[in-house]
Amino acid sequence: PALTTATLPSLAGSLPVPTYDRSGVRAGIVHLGVGAFHRSHQALYVDRLLEQGTAQEWGFCGVGVLPSDRRMAEVMAAQDCLYTLVVRHPDGSAEARVVGSIVEYLLAPDDPEAVVEKMASETTRIVSLTVTEGGYNIAATTGEFDATDPDVVADLRPGAALRTSFGLVTEALVRRRDRGLPPFTVVSCDNIQHNGDVARGSFAAFATLRDPSLGEWVQREVAFPNSMVDRITPATTDEDRADVAARFGVEDGWPVVCEPFTQWVLEDRFPLGRPPLEEAGVQVVADVDPYERMKLRLLNAGHQALAYLGTLAGYRLVHDAAQDPLFQRLLLGYMEEEATPTLLPVPGIDLDAYRRQLLERFANPAIRDTLARLAFDGSERLTKWLLPVVRDNLARDGEVRRSAAVVAGWARYSEGVDEQGAPIEIADRRRERLTANARRQREEPLAFLADREVFGDLVDDERFTGPYLETLASLHERGARATLEALVGDPV
Ligand code: NAD
Repeated sequence: PALTTATLPSLAGSLPVPTYDRSGVRAGIVHLGVGAFHRSHQALYVDRLLEQGTAQEWGFCGVGVLPSDRRMAEVMAAQDCLYTLVVRHPDGSAEARVVGSIVEYLLAPDDPEAVVEKMASETTRIVSLTVTEGGYNIAATTGEFDATDPDVVADLRPGAALRTSFGLVTEALVRRRDRGLPPFTVVSCDNIQHNGDVARGSFAAFATLRDPSLGEWVQREVAFPNSMVDRITPATTDEDRADVAARFGVEDGWPVVCEPFTQWVLEDRFPLGRPPLEEAGVQVVADVDPYERMKLRLLNAGHQALAYLGTLAGYRLVHDAAQDPLFQRLLLGYMEEEATPTLLPVPGIDLDAYRRQLLERFANPAIRDTLARLAFDGSERLTKWLLPVVRDNLARDGEVRRSAAVVAGWARYSEGVDEQGAPIEIADRRRERLTANARRQREEPLAFLADREVFGDLVDDERFTGPYLETLASLHERGARATLEALVGDPV
């Protein structure tokens, strides 16, 4: 049957469903950007607590900020915000569960006022976000909040129908302040190093544009704990929907599929309290820096190493590339020789085991994650995950050969044509300039890297441009496979 509150009892024979009374769950957390990841990760941790009989005050009110969230809004409305989470193991087996921790959903473009009032309400104590790396509106050149963004400009006009996270959250904070209510805690769960600090910077910058004293107040009074989040969650496909119906008998308009691994490391700065997340497996720590550095530089940068070179080598699915010994050697070499020397000591983590586990996670054939998803918004991702490793290594005179090859792979990929002459769809907010630069590079080999808005001054350092140019020429002359064979050597 279709998934709704009314059909839960009949579904309970085929898969676990919430056994707690959802009508008694209050939305103490407003979450912006309810996509695949929020539903495989944060929502599941709270669902676990609700099953344990705690956290009734800490359900989620989901919010779609963008007009493109309309389909999610429709599915959430049709299904009483319920959805199926499917965990797929490498051996092909799967477990599913109906998750019930999201208890309300609002689509901001339909009613921004309702979203602002929800966040301003006394019952809201946390506002969390998964709005992608680009969702913090940082200009790549300056590293500062981009005040020229048209949506930001629109949200600063008095009486505007608010359309950005910044406009909505800031207005809610102002109303709370005016009403004598303390501000909520803002928790970014995006894959950005120091995501809480970045969120603080962006929200305070927007508030400053509204009113400088408001900006200072946000800086001073609002808590933005940093977090490290991890669970590979691809976009849901029609096959996933069919699979959920066939295996579990649930007709779900938007189930979520993810890997078994999950991790959430969170700083404990919640002036208005928080759910007892450690009881659901969250690592609550004083400083997430070493954990997030480890994760972004090994997992996320590792994904970048697969995305472009893997596509050029003819792969489309992550596990196919990750099972290729050539890519395994590239990844392991990058992780051991380039990324790991730039990490801080990570309490309680065996880095060798972590790296090996990552290779296994990437190779999980049941997840069917796409290289295209990993290649999305490279100008926001590769630059935030891989380039810091490069900069640290240049500063310590460390190794950058493999990183340079990954960047050269991105440059070649950005030409928008694969090695067989077929088009590659470039999905990136800076697509036009990336493609224009990449298409000039056969005559002008540094054209792509010379874009200082994306790469800063990397083009000035010969220790990087040397291996970069070598790989790029080899990609043009011999293709990705032969280039990698030369780079990472023959199979041992
Ligand atoms: P998704 O495409 O399923 O959902 C993204 C959500 O963010 C959508 O609701 C979208 O409307 C919203 N959004 C995008 N840009 C926005 C903006 N400028 N302002 C407001 N809302 C915006 O993607 P997802 O898989 O849920 O991933 C979202 C983010 O979560 C990632 O970018 C990453 O930072 C983090 N994350 C994802 C994974 C994963 O494996 N999918 C793992 C760890 C962390």
